[in-house]
Amino acid sequence: MTEGRGPTGTLQVGAVVERLAVGPAWLVDPATGRSGPGEILVEGGRLRAVDWLSGEAAAGVDERGIVVAPGFIDLHAHFREPGNEDAETIATGQAAAAHGGFTTVCLMPNTEPPVDEPSVVARIGAAAAASGSPVRVLVYGTVSVGRGGEQLAAIGELADAGVVGFSDDGASVRSAALLRNALLYAGMAGLPVVEHVEEASLCAGAEAHEGLVATVLGLRGWPAAAEAAVVARDLAVLEAVVEDEPRARLHLAHLSTREALDLVRAAKARGLPVSCEVTPHHIGLADEWLAGARRWAWEAVDETGRPRNPWADGALVARPYATACKVNPPLRSADHAVACLAALADGTADALATDHAPHTVVDKLVEFGLAANGISGIETALGVLLAAVDSGRIGLDRALAALTVGPALILGERLGRRVGLVEGEPADLVVFDRGARWRVTEDALASKGRNSPLLGRELPGRVLATVADGRLAYADPELVAGAVSTDGEAAGR
Ligand SMILES: [Zn+2]
Repeated sequence: MTEGRGPTGTLQVGAVVERLAVGPAWLVDPATGRSGPGEILVEGGRLRAVDWLSGEAAAGVDERGIVVAPGFIDLHAHFREPGNEDAETIATGQAAAAHGGFTTVCLMPNTEPPVDEPSVVARIGAAAAASGSPVRVLVYGTVSVGRGGEQLAAIGELADAGVVGFSDDGASVRSAALLRNALLYAGMAGLPVVEHVEEASLCAGAEAHEGLVATVLGLRGWPAAAEAAVVARDLAVLEAVVEDEPRARLHLAHLSTREALDLVRAAKARGLPVSCEVTPHHIGLADEWLAGARRWAWEAVDETGRPRNPWADGALVARPYATACKVNPPLRSADHAVACLAALADGTADALATDHAPHTVVDKLVEFGLAANGISGIETALGVLLAAVDSGRIGLDRALAALTVGPALILGERLGRRVGLVEGEPADLVVFDRGARWRVTEDALASKGRNSPLLGRELPGRVLATVADGRLAYADPELVAGAVSTDGEAAGR
């Protein structure tokens, strides 16, 4: 189906997709709310045709086979450049994103130096352009100078330089006064403040979610209340700021607890301009993974929704204290994970964001308490999400909306393109085989960060092709020979 071919005759990343025909396949367009059997045709980099099929032409096509959706948007990723290119570069991050089905990524500003002035924005943009990948790289600026939590960064200048919002990610905005000013000035620029919610005074030396698993493993507890405490503070500040600046917007990053999500649910019901994201690992994994369990979080709750005891029911299959499971916020007990998934399903959580946080081996190959926080997750996000769909707790349409229109609404005009299967627009889409499973191995990952607790596991939903801005971002090596042909005779299932 593909001819994004370079002079050598091989599929080449960055080349305009001259011709790509897919179908009959299952099309999902969250922008219009439509999904069903259909065919698409890309020509000269543009989405030339989107044909919905019915009757005999649609027979046998369902959502369990090849799926076509708009390219995914990640609101939260760390590509480590500038400053820690051993862990990830812009180029390797873009390759990893494309392998995960993402065509747009928003990078957190906690690089070295941090993104607290326009020159760093320009530097990242130049690296993205130089890589040859068509994956669009957007960046957040910091809230405070140097992420120091004292002095407000040059919000206006950073906005003019093209940032998509402001965040001191890695820590909460240190004071309510600083947050108030950030919401006000970012609001004047029409941009959100993206908040990492963690009450630092409750988390000093914290290693694992406070509960049974931390107690048994002897790890210092990381209370759920540390998250809700900051969410409550932030919502109170937001409510006051919107009186003066109605464009003020607060986006809460990687929420992990039921209590925080309940606060957001109530705030949204009151009409406050707040949005939030959850991550694949906080919906799919639970704190019992630290003890050596490897079942999905939704399999780790009993009929009443309480977490099962992994020691009592033989769920421990891996070694304990795997530092690949150490992340901030921590993997929570399974009841919290199920609450995160429910929030994604009911729309309380607007987006699934990966918090892709690659680390070098040296930063993880240490004792648990000293290991760096973070999971390399941009390539496994779709697989975890599809496993959640398979559990019946969220529908495919809603799941894909959380990767497309959900984050697009938060980015607004700064996204710079329309989202959806829109005829005539530059093609921006992902083709994946929902029925095909792939094994997460170090060799299978394009990211430099191999710090994934999913290594060795099979995930559903193999990405066949990712097209960004009309150009090829990723193609499965076997796709060229198999499921997809160059003459438009694509295998539908
Ligand atoms: Zn964070």
